[in-house]
Amino acid sequence: MTGKVALVTGASSGIGEAIALSLSGAGALVAVGARRFDLLKDLADRAPGEVLPVQLDVGDQDSVRAAIAATIQRFGRLDILVNNAGIMLTGIVDGADTAEWDAMIRTNLLGTMYVTHAALPHLLSSRGTVVQTSSTSGRIASAGGAVNAASKFGVTAFSEALRQEVTAQGVRVVVVAPGFTDTDLASHISDPVSRDMAAQLKTMMRTLQPDDIAAAVLYAVSQPEHVSVNEILIRPTDQQ
Ligand code: NDP
Repeated sequence: MTGKVALVTGASSGIGEAIALSLSGAGALVAVGARRFDLLKDLADRAPGEVLPVQLDVGDQDSVRAAIAATIQRFGRLDILVNNAGIMLTGIVDGADTAEWDAMIRTNLLGTMYVTHAALPHLLSSRGTVVQTSSTSGRIASAGGAVNAASKFGVTAFSEALRQEVTAQGVRVVVVAPGFTDTDLASHISDPVSRDMAAQLKTMMRTLQPDDIAAAVLYAVSQPEHVSVNEILIRPTDQQ
């Protein structure tokens, strides 16, 4: 990864933090974006290489454009975009708070699309790679997770169409779909039934760790240019 420049969104915790540290450890220059800037600064202090913290709300197009501009200003190019920012506010459809639906679609789906749109000219110049953190919920929808699944199915659809548009220009698109990974993701669920189910599930299996996903991302982005890893689905062995 030496000489490569990456931007990782949602890098203030969990999977994004692990991806950023892994890319940095492999020699990349890494910009890290999220809303909690203090956590990004702390990550930059701990990273093995040069890391640029960038204030970013992926649902706000001005913020997205500013984050891409800051990355280019500092490092001069962009080779790898990891669209990882996401929220999971699960619960059944009946009686749901639709403001949570708006937030999920804005962050997981539109956010991914906005960041890709703003970064694409730079990725076309560098013949770079876009990595999308989707989910097993981007392949199989389950009761209680309708809108999270809708957002992640959307990411998969967007990514495949994008892949067809840019592959002839040397840009690779990778969808990484993790199963249950031990992070803070479920702690924001407001529906008590859903939150308890997630907490219970965690006690019933050996979950994935953020580093497991980071290893898959590093594998995908370090392949030779003629190899395009399109999709990686990773479940905990114990997950049905
Ligand atoms: P975390 O809650 O630890 O991380 C989510 C990250 O997204 C945080 O860094 C958060 O930063 C960031 N984020 C949320 N909203 C925004 C926003 N509007 N703008 C910018 N950043 C934002 O959870 P995970 O690490 O688990 O989640 C990372 C990704 O992995 C998500 O896309 C999630 O859907 C996906 N995933 C996770 C699974 C799991 O089991 N954990 C399974 C399948 C997929 P901040 O709050 O500072 O903005």
